[in-house]
Amino acid sequence: MLLIPCPWCGKRAETEFRCAGQVKVARTELLEADDEAWLEYLYQTDNQRGVLTEYWCHEKGCGEWFTLCRDTTTHELVDRDPEP
Ligand SMILES: [Zn+2]
Repeated sequence: MLLIPCPWCGKRAETEFRCAGQVKVARTELLEADDEAWLEYLYQTDNQRGVLTEYWCHEKGCGEWFTLCRDTTTHELVDRDPEP
């Protein structure tokens, strides 16, 4: 079982968390975007292999949201942002 480090609660079992997907560009960058750009932002993911930064929620704990970097091929948690 994967132990995920919540910044407020410490390491907890992955069953207490929900992953909300890859961190993308800030929504403020899309304020003037057309429908096609919003559609891509909301529903399309790169689904790439390797280290990704993801949104996580400690849903069955403190309820806080945070980001963490995870290698999608090994599930190893990484302390850095992926290379651009
Ligand atoms: Zn927590």
